[in-house]
Amino acid sequence: MHVVVVGGGWAGLAAAVELCCHGVRVTLLEAAPHLGGRARSVTHDGQLIDNGQHLLLGAYRDTLRLLDVTGVTETAVLHRHPLHLLLKSPHRPEVRIRCPALPAPLHLITGLLRSTGLTIADRLAALPLCRSVLTARFQQQKIGQDISVAAWLVQHKQPPSLIRILWQPLCLAILNTPVETASSQVFIRVLQDAFAQQREDSDLLFCKTDLGAIFPTPAQHFIETHGGTVMLNQRVQGLRINSGVVQGVTTATQEIAADHVILAVSPVSCQRLLEPHAALRDIAQRLASISHEPICTVYVRYPSHIKLEIPMIGLLDTTSQWVFDRGLYGSGHAGLMAVVISGPGEHMALSNPALSARVVKELAQIFTDWPAPLHDAADSVIIREKRATFSCCTGINSVRPAAALPVHGAWLAGDYTDTGYPATLEGAVRSGVQCAHAVIRRPE
Ligand SMILES: Cc1cc2nc3c(=O)[nH]c(=O)nc-3n(C[C@H](O)[C@H](O)[C@H](O)COP(=O)(O)OP(=O)(O)OC[C@H]3O[C@@H](n4cnc5c(N)ncnc54)[C@H](O)[C@@H]3O)c2cc1C
Repeated sequence: MHVVVVGGGWAGLAAAVELCCHGVRVTLLEAAPHLGGRARSVTHDGQLIDNGQHLLLGAYRDTLRLLDVTGVTETAVLHRHPLHLLLKSPHRPEVRIRCPALPAPLHLITGLLRSTGLTIADRLAALPLCRSVLTARFQQQKIGQDISVAAWLVQHKQPPSLIRILWQPLCLAILNTPVETASSQVFIRVLQDAFAQQREDSDLLFCKTDLGAIFPTPAQHFIETHGGTVMLNQRVQGLRINSGVVQGVTTATQEIAADHVILAVSPVSCQRLLEPHAALRDIAQRLASISHEPICTVYVRYPSHIKLEIPMIGLLDTTSQWVFDRGLYGSGHAGLMAVVISGPGEHMALSNPALSARVVKELAQIFTDWPAPLHDAADSVIIREKRATFSCCTGINSVRPAAALPVHGAWLAGDYTDTGYPATLEGAVRSGVQCAHAVIRRPE
């Protein structure tokens, strides 16, 4: 059996690695000159940085398993930190929630009760909501109609102050979609995965190295040493189908025959490949209804002695939302801060110098003892990913396609497929692994 995987993001790479593990011959075609897709390394001024700051969770089981399969030791590339949220604002006291080493979900409940910066009323209001998310009764309810996270929080009597200080930033960070439109179904799914089973599931995993070294490069090596081929700069232009059976793909220069083709590309690219085929047009139209949200990462470099108290701090009442210390784990970036702004907003209309100056000013208001950055405020590196993630809005799960397409041998993978997860590395990897298993198990 020969399988062509189209797309070398984390979903395509995961599918290819899993197929290789089962002895399947794989050819992976990637349009870009590099692997990794939306989670990749980029070179700036001779230094490797990421196209956007990424954070992993202890609950990312498939991702952590595939790192292991490809020979990557977790501790070599990721730093595990028990959940510790610190949110700072120029206008109000900081909020700190730190989960102690107790079994789940006691660690969360104790962490919330002992938190600082939240009123007693806010803390007590959060507890019943957490309880209902974590109980089996709720697992049944969530299958029901999807509502927005905002409506769900009101339904669970969350005070406006708690929504603003805690739930809004968490929802944006997890779903990259504002609470007003975000899907409560997907939000609850992530909360359950992170908090309902083992304490380690809610651990935060910070990258010690660039994203390429965590999975894309080891995955490529694994595929190539297991009989597979990885081809860069190969944009697939068409899917070849004959009498309802996949024959292979075409690129600008060649036709590649395959028994199965996995399209692990974004919804937009996928739509273009499916549309010419009558049997796939309905799915192409469904994909057209998926919208996207941006993520903006602003890199600001300070003198090397400048450090955050913990690797990531949330910022409230500012355009900047989270600041990550890229230098904490010896990646040669001492003093480099990555400031993340998730979701839509007026910042997307600002010029780079204006956005950069705003971020630097906000950091100076919050970290009052920091010196000025090493560069002109206007010279920060800014990476705007306009289609960073699919918009995880209410009803999204009913639009997300399954892996199997209604053409023999044609399959889909990608963070947007029906994993139940938001657009995350784990969603992408899980989709790739599930798709590979579906190919292996397919009826003849
Ligand atoms: C700035 C940013 C920050 C993020 N932060 C986090 C985070 O903290 N935690 C987290 O878990 N997730 C995060 N994400 C989300 C995560 O990166 C994505 O969900 C994941 O990378 C998606 O992987 P994918 O393989 O499904 O899609 P993609 O990465 O989009 O991969 C698709 C690949 O297909 C290729 N392709 C497209 N068309 C063709 C074609 N015709 N022929 C050949 N190749 C083609 C593309 O070049 C691309 O490499 C973030 C994303 C961004 C952009």
